[in-house]
Amino acid sequence: MYSHFTQARLIRGIHPVQLVCSSRQFASLATLEKNYLPGQQINGFTVTKTKTIPELEMVAVHLKHDYSGAEHLHVAKDDDNNVFSIAFKTNPPDATGVPHILEHTTLCGSERYNVRDPFFKMLNRSLANFMNAMTASDYTFYPFATTNKVDFGNLRNVYLDATLHPLLKNLDFAQEGWRIEHADPRDETSPFEFKGVVYNEMKGQMSDTSYLFYIRFQESIYPSLNNSGGDPSNITDLTYSQLQEFHAKNYHPSNAKVFTYGNFPLEDHLTELDHEFSRFEPKKPDLEVKYPISLSDTIRVVEEGPIDPLSDPSRQHKTSMTWFMGPTTDVYETFCLRVLTSLLTDGHSSPLYQALIESDIGTEFSPNTGLDTSSPVNIFSVGVQGVATNNLQLVEQTIRTTLQQTFDDGLDLNRVEAILHQTELSRKHKVANFGMNLLYGLTSGWFNKVDPMDMLEWNNIISRFREDLKKPRFLENYIECFLLQDKPVFCFTMSPSASYGESLVLNEQERLAKKLSEYSAQEKDELTSVGLELLKKQEEKEDLSCLPTLHIQDIPRELKRVELDHTTISALPDAKIPVQWRITPTNGLTYFRSLISLKDLPKDLHIYLPLFAECLTNMGTHSQSMADLEDEIKLKTGGISTGVQVRSDPNDIDAWNLSLGISGYSLDKDVSDLLRLIRILLVETNFENTEKLRPLLRQMASGAADQIASNGHAYARNAAASTLTASGSLSESLSGIEQVQFIARLDGYDDASLLLISAKLRQISEFVLSTSGMQIAVICGENAVRENELLLTRFATELATLKEITAGNLVGSATANQFNFTSNTGKTSKTWYTMPFQVSYSGACVRGVPYTNKDGSSLQVLANMLSHKYLHSEIREKGGAYGGGASYNGASGIFGYYSYRDPNPENTLRTIDRAGEWAIQNSWTTRDLEEAKLSIFQGIDAPQSVESEGMIPFLNGISDDMRQTRREQLLSVGLDDIRGVAEKYLTGGLRSYQVAVLGEAPEWANETNGWTVVNSSVEGSMEDAKREILSDSM
Ligand SMILES: [Zn+2]
Repeated sequence: MYSHFTQARLIRGIHPVQLVCSSRQFASLATLEKNYLPGQQINGFTVTKTKTIPELEMVAVHLKHDYSGAEHLHVAKDDDNNVFSIAFKTNPPDATGVPHILEHTTLCGSERYNVRDPFFKMLNRSLANFMNAMTASDYTFYPFATTNKVDFGNLRNVYLDATLHPLLKNLDFAQEGWRIEHADPRDETSPFEFKGVVYNEMKGQMSDTSYLFYIRFQESIYPSLNNSGGDPSNITDLTYSQLQEFHAKNYHPSNAKVFTYGNFPLEDHLTELDHEFSRFEPKKPDLEVKYPISLSDTIRVVEEGPIDPLSDPSRQHKTSMTWFMGPTTDVYETFCLRVLTSLLTDGHSSPLYQALIESDIGTEFSPNTGLDTSSPVNIFSVGVQGVATNNLQLVEQTIRTTLQQTFDDGLDLNRVEAILHQTELSRKHKVANFGMNLLYGLTSGWFNKVDPMDMLEWNNIISRFREDLKKPRFLENYIECFLLQDKPVFCFTMSPSASYGESLVLNEQERLAKKLSEYSAQEKDELTSVGLELLKKQEEKEDLSCLPTLHIQDIPRELKRVELDHTTISALPDAKIPVQWRITPTNGLTYFRSLISLKDLPKDLHIYLPLFAECLTNMGTHSQSMADLEDEIKLKTGGISTGVQVRSDPNDIDAWNLSLGISGYSLDKDVSDLLRLIRILLVETNFENTEKLRPLLRQMASGAADQIASNGHAYARNAAASTLTASGSLSESLSGIEQVQFIARLDGYDDASLLLISAKLRQISEFVLSTSGMQIAVICGENAVRENELLLTRFATELATLKEITAGNLVGSATANQFNFTSNTGKTSKTWYTMPFQVSYSGACVRGVPYTNKDGSSLQVLANMLSHKYLHSEIREKGGAYGGGASYNGASGIFGYYSYRDPNPENTLRTIDRAGEWAIQNSWTTRDLEEAKLSIFQGIDAPQSVESEGMIPFLNGISDDMRQTRREQLLSVGLDDIRGVAEKYLTGGLRSYQVAVLGEAPEWANETNGWTVVNSSVEGSMEDAKREILSDSM
């Protein structure tokens, strides 16, 4: 639930800021600015700076708390999705993960809210659309977002009390941080082992090789900032008193930065904060900004990492080069560097992509590639993964010559223009989480002494940049200044080691043995009793009445409907294509989306569809390279994307639909180009371009194990559901483990065999352009409708004339029997996919009902209640997994249990097995129901971005009327309904779970116990696959 995140993943992209919709009754910008003049005192705070940002229709006010010195930044904007965040500077003193463990334990109970885990309990007493706590490399922050004013006040109080007055009990430290405990706490003869939520979370994190590369790189270049998340081998050094001291030192108002955003009044926020902060004596904060190593000479570091068993064993190195590029406090220069580094590394036409990836030296960029602006120094890295041992030298050489070459030849100004166009579009693109994006974009700089007011600039930065661009070789000069031959560079490489995993296990065993040898017999007895005490505490029933809450009445009865119009356009006399229109203010943008039905596509081609969709935006055409096409796409549109979509019919879970989706958006004036480019991708893509196909396959296959690990519970659930419905089976082959393994196999083909893949892709293309039905959705402003209609007709006619595309017939669904699917009901099946993870992931699924069936609502509420009242405590608190729960997917009709980063799958499966019976026996209260409903409606009523409006009916075939009915059903679900569906679907004769677990297989997962064990590494299956494809293409 609480995520520890790494900076680098958030800082990509040129600008984090985007625009949101307006509503009524909000003071004008001019009034707001006048209300908050510098020097003015408001409720215990003094305004230090105020800035109006007219292009984003907002006013930013920076204040300081007079007594404690706490900083506050308020961004007033007419947006009802209000955001709150309190953040503290937390420089990690060592690699024990103390900032991360503190982040967890503050949320275990506080003075005013003295209950176990009030933060988690607030999840279902609120209508917040975002709640989390996150540890970054040198600060920790606690943000939430909600549109409800009472909710905002409730959550703010809980967040302030949790951070400033946590109980930080010793037992919380043992539960969240680390402890030594019997494998089964009730059985004194079972062996001792390390446990703890953060301990296991970080073990899981470290088995993600991308994360491992990133964090080892970070530790080497930035030793002054220790690993804030915690390295499992150091976590067990942390003591309880160190945790308390760290809190006392850092979680103090004088060390805090508070951020508020939205249309709730600033004065209200300040009153509450003043009340809280005035209870603290002022003190001198530790705001020390840490710096990376100094780089006067080139430095080389090589570390060992694990082998990815799903990728080519001969290409497992990751290597990168890093330069420092001046201070981040210069916001303008940082912007210029973002543009420059994006030109160097982003997209098919960028020189480093062509030199490193397209040339096949590496499979994809290394996880640290790009400009990191989250520290006081701009850090630029370029690297690749999937490198063969004998190519390591070549990587460095290639990067150097490419930079020199780019400097000599000069940059293409058209590409600069394309980047500015992208930035401009992203500003106009209305998103629902604008406030959260703003917070993410500002916080790290704010802690590194960058003035947040400078970071909010927009127009000034762009116009200054355009001026500077007129100077000769303006951007090229930065290359010379920071990146050419003579500049010192930091080279970081991670090499595969077959014994890496083993050495971790050995290290853990030794660490445990050493600790235990230091304990007296009495201390060991204490370990046993602490384990039992923890268990007892976890089982205690609690009185939660001290926690604030919203109520069922706070959930609106009526769905916010999205008004849609439907027309058809005539492509040819007999071809009518249905178009769904959403007409709404869009800041002058048009959003286009089309679905092309693939439900009659031959079954053997299904598994190629994800590759086919990728090819459309990666291969180029016979007359135009992908590099040129992509530049044009960036210059004229906000991007074009493709994907494959499976859905169940809302009236019948055995009926399904499969389609190819293509979407994109542009300024209204560029829609003609948007449609022309989409047509080119659809009609002219050159699937025989093996020079592009090879790197694409490599890229898709690379990091397969990481890809699965980071979302293991979803893969497990997907695999489990694949035997229950036809759409489940399709999902597995298109996006599950089956797909990952398939791509890994294709990646092993030699050049001649690549043409066999091309042939399959061309078959799909021919199918798409000849026999399939199409439907279109458009979102645009009123004044763009007429022109768009004309352009759509031209687009459809061209497609139809060219390739005989026929009428849009997406309404009917295919049935399960269309590809001989039989649902595996009536008997439980259990599959274990062996994968080299230190922790496992499990999924167990049961068939539910179609969307329109009333039982679906009850199952959805039941899943939520089981998660909060039973599975969380059994799987996470007692079992030590990072996460565990149940969910019901209303659209696909599948009830699924899961566990995430789970050290104890046996316990999880036992827990799941008992869940249905538990749900029937448990004495539920109406309050339990209310909580479940609140948490379900957080998702249903979360604010939507403009581009998503009307997409539920368009993509899922679920109309607003169906949604309104379901809404009423959900609100009226009673306790009898809950017991009824638990009995009907989760227990008794009808129960037939499909179970899938990913991870190292334990001894008990064997045939005798009913398990099918699948070896999931790629070796061995490669030859079979080739035979398979050879035989069926002849
Ligand atoms: Zn965590």
